[in-house]
Amino acid sequence: MASHIVGYPRMGPKRELKFALESFWDGKSSAEDLQKVAADLRSSIWKQMANAGIKYIPSNTFSYYDQVLDTTAMLGAVPTRYGWTGGEIGFDTYFSMARGNASLPAMEMTKWFDTNYHFIVPELGPDTKFSYSSHKAVSEYKEAKALGINTVPVLIGPVSYLLLSKPAKGVEKSFALLSLLGKVLAVYKEVIAELKAAGASWIQFDEPTLVMDLDSHQLQAFTEAYSELESSFSGLNVLIETYFADVPAEAYKTIIALKGICGFGFDLVRGTKTLDLIKSKGFPSGKFLFAGVVDGRNIWANDLASSLSTLESLESVVGKDKLVVSTSCSLMHTAVDLVNETKLDDEIKSWLAFAAQKIVEVNALARALAGHKDQAFFQSNASAQASRKSSPRVTNQEVQKAAAGLKGSDHRRATNVSARLDAQQKKLNLPVLPTTTIGSFPQTMDVRRVRREYKAKKISEEEYVNAMKAEISKVVKLQEELDIDVLVHGEPERNDMVEYFGEQLSGFAFTVNGWVQSYGSRCVKPPIIFGDVSRPKAMTVFWSSMAQSMTSRPMKGMLTGPVTILNWSFVRNDQPRYETCYQIALAIKTEVEDLEAAGIQVIQIDEAALREGLPLHKSEQAFYLDWAVHSFRITNCGVKDTTQIHTHMCYSHFNDIIHSIIDMDADVITIENSRSDEKLLSVFREGVKYGAGIGPGVYDIHSPRIPSTEEIADRINKMLAVLETNILWVNPDCGLKTRKYPEVKPALTNMVSAAKILRKQLASAK
Ligand code: GLN
Ligand code: ZN
Repeated sequence: MASHIVGYPRMGPKRELKFALESFWDGKSSAEDLQKVAADLRSSIWKQMANAGIKYIPSNTFSYYDQVLDTTAMLGAVPTRYGWTGGEIGFDTYFSMARGNASLPAMEMTKWFDTNYHFIVPELGPDTKFSYSSHKAVSEYKEAKALGINTVPVLIGPVSYLLLSKPAKGVEKSFALLSLLGKVLAVYKEVIAELKAAGASWIQFDEPTLVMDLDSHQLQAFTEAYSELESSFSGLNVLIETYFADVPAEAYKTIIALKGICGFGFDLVRGTKTLDLIKSKGFPSGKFLFAGVVDGRNIWANDLASSLSTLESLESVVGKDKLVVSTSCSLMHTAVDLVNETKLDDEIKSWLAFAAQKIVEVNALARALAGHKDQAFFQSNASAQASRKSSPRVTNQEVQKAAAGLKGSDHRRATNVSARLDAQQKKLNLPVLPTTTIGSFPQTMDVRRVRREYKAKKISEEEYVNAMKAEISKVVKLQEELDIDVLVHGEPERNDMVEYFGEQLSGFAFTVNGWVQSYGSRCVKPPIIFGDVSRPKAMTVFWSSMAQSMTSRPMKGMLTGPVTILNWSFVRNDQPRYETCYQIALAIKTEVEDLEAAGIQVIQIDEAALREGLPLHKSEQAFYLDWAVHSFRITNCGVKDTTQIHTHMCYSHFNDIIHSIIDMDADVITIENSRSDEKLLSVFREGVKYGAGIGPGVYDIHSPRIPSTEEIADRINKMLAVLETNILWVNPDCGLKTRKYPEVKPALTNMVSAAKILRKQLASAK
């Protein structure tokens, strides 16, 4: 009977780590205070797992910021600009890399596979010196041992570490990062030796890149790395852990052939094909299979009966004593503890399991395999599964029927985009290089307070509406003064672009403490989509009409698109994701049509997160893009030619999905552009034809810096070199919600001036 947990959330059940970090960063508490909070969190997590009966308890899955950055620290691979000169890496250097300091920006951050977690990208080159410079893994192992718990220290594997790195500034883009393997392994050997000396009997190497489409050269690196480490492994049990998707057949073949490895961990929730591989290709005899049957990416209670039968089918392949029940990935991608949910009703709660509950599930499965099935626990799980299947709160026949009816058509607008743009221009009569913003205006303390008080029922609806109306009117006046062409209402009534809609749609539930780490101390609280989605009544028409009544300029209706709502929520697992997405699309479609009927001529449907849902395997990407783009088109296929549909995206790495973006068939797209050295424009330089309106962001709203008129004009000029004058829009990179008015006013003033200068130039060039 054995149970294992791949990793555990670090933030704490009430985001204790977040608050401790932020207070330390603000200089309000000491390093010791922070270390104390961290140690308390670690010890309570270890004890929780030990008490639950987990056999293989991970350590070193705690992090003050990010586990990849921890590995960079372990390897001493600090970029030279941070001025570190050796010795154990302390908070100063560590947090400078993570967050930047007074004189230096932070290292780049990017998404961890297809999750919403972001890691700090290592910057390496031929001159990077590696030396063992953070003993965190060993000290945490010892810390747990002192509590009487013999843990499995977890390290990011050396090959994944290198594959997730990028060439440092000044290093050739083509630099072979894997050529650093030997140097990196030298440090790993020291770490392994020290862990062994401290008493570790197992080490877990996380090698999640094994689920990617790797080429034979990359796979070869795994063989090389682990052969090189083999001698260090003597007297130790080594587990190679993978997660997030199927392990492709070639990768499977490569790793099960590795010598010196005792166990392999697989995600059997997302990796159903891996399950087939294990059964068809076999599993090396005498090795442990860590079977990830409990989903670390979601909040649903496990279907224990079904998992048990999967596990039983594996027993015959790997042998009873070699099967270990595990989670599909680290539990850091799910919420922490259901116990702290005071607002969810009991029925919904019975369908859920957060990290703390998943530990219990893992253990119950392991015990059941060993012949000690907790009948009562399995029984109550089975009835919860049954209640979820039959609950009238989950199923809405009408919605099901409407969504099923969608598949026959691809929902395109009747007229092509250039004819639509002509028709729209006749009504809107915009200047060339029209200016606009992405939606939100600064969320002042006052705005937040009013929203909070209304939610807490401390102020009446009337008071709330009046306060919001005043705010909207202020934002409208400001935009008129700035002479912006297409206005927004500023979104003061919204806390979050997904939550705002989820709260008004049926089929969504909200947690109080269901936080998931996004990066550093930042957490998100995804809504839970538990049932068929429908829209009981109009969601934004009231605010948008109010805003439109305040101005004669076009006011953009502002919606979040179905794919983004889907990708930023915990999604039901009892139907395919696309079914849920189509349902949301239908709900948004009715909102679009209500806005149009209320006289709103420009409607923006944000798809900030469309790219995030892209599957890790190339073979699955086309299918995703197909239904995602289709869902977007469903929302606006029914509007008149004269209604202008905008969309907005928060990323610039879209060269590989440009054809899908064109296929969305929006009239205008505004898109992030300035943070990424204008990589976005290269796709047009390479000759991709884009006929719709496009507004590549002219300045970065993530920074407090105010761009000058010249700088913005220069950016627009660069865009004009690759895009037709009549399709170009001028706008910032993203919403202005996190900025302050003293930054926003001058920045937008300069943006409008730049647009006007260029209009003049274009007119005189005619
Ligand atoms: N309309 C939203 C805003 O401006 C878009 C935010 C986003 O793209 N993340 O806040
Ligand atoms: Zn954005």
